[in-house]
Amino acid sequence: MDEDPTVSNPYVADLIQQFIAESPLNTMQDKSGEPAWESALVGFSSGSDPIWQQYKEYIGPFHWTPWEVFNQHHSSENVSADQLTVISWILPQRKMVRLANRKASKFPAEEWARIRVYGEEFNVALRKYVAGHLAKVGHPAIAPMLAPNWTIVKSQRFSYASSWSERHAAYAAGLGTFGLCDGLITAKGKAMRVGSVVAKISLEPTPRLYAGHHDYCLFYADGTCGKCIDRCPARAITQSGHDKEKCRQHLVLSRDYVKETYKFAGYGCGLCQVGVPCEAGIPVKAAREALKRGELPPPPPPLA
Ligand code: SF4
Ligand code: SF4
Repeated sequence: MDEDPTVSNPYVADLIQQFIAESPLNTMQDKSGEPAWESALVGFSSGSDPIWQQYKEYIGPFHWTPWEVFNQHHSSENVSADQLTVISWILPQRKMVRLANRKASKFPAEEWARIRVYGEEFNVALRKYVAGHLAKVGHPAIAPMLAPNWTIVKSQRFSYASSWSERHAAYAAGLGTFGLCDGLITAKGKAMRVGSVVAKISLEPTPRLYAGHHDYCLFYADGTCGKCIDRCPARAITQSGHDKEKCRQHLVLSRDYVKETYKFAGYGCGLCQVGVPCEAGIPVKAAREALKRGELPPPPPPLA
């Protein structure tokens, strides 16, 4: 099929917002009839961005570049990396869901657990929709997280990692930087879920208005905060960072709690994502204001 030349950055962003607004799949699946999500932040990165090679060195050689994952599933397209764009989105948690989870002290609020399951089911549908729609208008695409060969890999540095990290794709697309707890702090905060699609299309990359991968976290910016350490019921966060294995074990425990308490098969936690300064925005003032101006933030002052 011929490529539709009208497919632009705003076209893709509108496609995502429209699906959120109109899809019947956007639901918490409870009696309230409330949607799981209200809107999305959308960013773009080029398939030829050198950051993808850097991820191979930092995360591990098993982490796909956009070209690798696209080519595995669309080899007949014979594309080069610069013909690909990674479309990333952030689905910020709704205020009602954040407020509910702020009250939790060990296991998640029902609203949060519903989003973890049904909100993510919507996110899967959104990935399929974006990839399917773009293919229909002449831009073949793949959602790496839905690729049949996506897998979790044991990693020396991270205890485990995967073939494709949605958060790292979002970082590449200018959508946020990492916090002490490993979550991605975005313009709408760290309480969110994230998705992406790799498509054969040339779109303008979103500028990364940060100098380093921790710019939006107060702990790294000025040595303060650390509130996520106290929020974690599993003691999985320390000043040295996030212990993924402890976190995973707590998530396993949450399954029984969710089933017994809320009467559905789910799980979750996210206590470190709420009741903290980075819950719903960028807490580092200089970085937040620089982003609003569309500029890089000034370098942080040296720590005392
Ligand atoms: S709670 Fe504080 S220390 Fe933890 S990620 Fe957020 S800003 Fe950083
Ligand atoms: S998700 Fe829960 S267990 Fe994992 S680091 Fe955050 S607060 Fe701790």
